[in-house]
Amino acid sequence: MASALLRDMTTLWDAALHVLPSRVGQVTFDSFLRSSVPLSLEGAEFTLGVPSEFARAWITERHLRTLEDCLTEIAGEPVLVGLKVNGPRADPAPARPEASVAARPPVPSAFPSQPLNPKYMFESFVVGTCNQFAHAAALQVAKAPGSAYNVLFLHSKVGLGKTHLMQAIGHYTREHHPHFQVVYISAEQFVNHLISSIRDNRTEGFRNHYRSVDMWLVDDIQFMAAIQGQTSEEEFFHTFNALYETGKQIVIASDCPPRHLQIMNERLRSRLQQGIVADLRPPDVDTRLAILEKKAQSDGIAISRDVLMRLAQRIESNVRILEGALMNVCAYASLNKVELTPSLVDEIIRDYATGSTASRVTIEEIGSHVAAHFDLTLDELQSARRSAVINRARQTAIFLCRELTDHSLHSIGQFFGGRDHSTVIHALRKVSDAIEREPQTLWLINNMKATLSE
Ligand code: ADP
Ligand code: MG
Repeated sequence: MASALLRDMTTLWDAALHVLPSRVGQVTFDSFLRSSVPLSLEGAEFTLGVPSEFARAWITERHLRTLEDCLTEIAGEPVLVGLKVNGPRADPAPARPEASVAARPPVPSAFPSQPLNPKYMFESFVVGTCNQFAHAAALQVAKAPGSAYNVLFLHSKVGLGKTHLMQAIGHYTREHHPHFQVVYISAEQFVNHLISSIRDNRTEGFRNHYRSVDMWLVDDIQFMAAIQGQTSEEEFFHTFNALYETGKQIVIASDCPPRHLQIMNERLRSRLQQGIVADLRPPDVDTRLAILEKKAQSDGIAISRDVLMRLAQRIESNVRILEGALMNVCAYASLNKVELTPSLVDEIIRDYATGSTASRVTIEEIGSHVAAHFDLTLDELQSARRSAVINRARQTAIFLCRELTDHSLHSIGQFFGGRDHSTVIHALRKVSDAIEREPQTLWLINNMKATLSE
């Protein structure tokens, strides 16, 4: 666990009890979680004793992710949750996390939609240059679903607000178009529903459900290929087309742009690419501060600005970790009855994966690394020379700069020999095409990214 305080399962669970009601809903909380007890914390595996078999099934089916997300946020490191019935009718089998996942109860035949988190509204989303375009596109879609942009594709690394924005669209639409059938589902859930409907011979019913959907929000589509391969992809494409062709609104979130999605169906890829494709980038320090201020305000936390500023400066990696760190320092202060100061913040979060500037790669480092790989010098990459190998190396470096740094196209072009931004775009396209066509380029870029982000 990240901090000594949270190495202890009881403290971790106590901190979670403060935030869970708003995450899972008061009824679920009162019925099942309030009376649950932490049983063990071994490495990343947290075992929770729940009151009944029904509670186990209910939580597993609907809230396991939320529970894991919440504990992960507080701990500042991944936590896996296993559930064990802790009552008189205890299940004799040990509840390892995998076991409880495998034992998910049959998916009910009700319409496959997951609930929206009430916190994920446009009002609570902080807009900065990092997410301005994605926010604007999301708002357009919410205001006029199915008209302007039939398909909106949101992508970013983890924890940068895709789910938040997507659910904000859902909330807004439900409020302004109460008759619209809005469905939010993760690709993983979609595949689970599909599998159970195949098993129960209900595929027709499964398909028919989607005829009445007006807005389809599909989260984490990158898992589609990973889970079940072609069958689920075909079924997804079928549903996608049925909605697309009838002018319904589709919003998709992914951890990579459409061109990098591991899908077989090129028609699907091209339809995704023809939509609005918007990425969310990591927030700068001012946006991070604004996010913390908003969060503190909405949770009714009284905390000084210099403490928030210190958190914003120290934690660059992603918003989820940033929010988790805020909860963590607040839990620390209240349990130990101490006043928070910037230096105490440093102390509490010292083991966090902060993604600090020290570990972030620079354009120069990328340039030198790529030059060395191609047996060139950095000067050559920055020169006006244009041999085939120099071009290739320069394009590779430009691509990696775009992926791994926050520099604009302009400043990347300037660094590599004062080139204008259309040259940079050309380079990005060349490399992404090569990644799609040639396994060795995919492999090369992948390895360089891994080495450079260490
Ligand atoms: P993703 O789906 O990209 O992994 P999420 O949407 O789950 O990320 O965001 C992670 C957390 O960070 C959520 O609690 C979300 O509310 C918060 N968050 C992300 N971006 C913003 C933002 N711009 N303003 C306010 N909160 C944000
Ligand atoms: Mg998400």
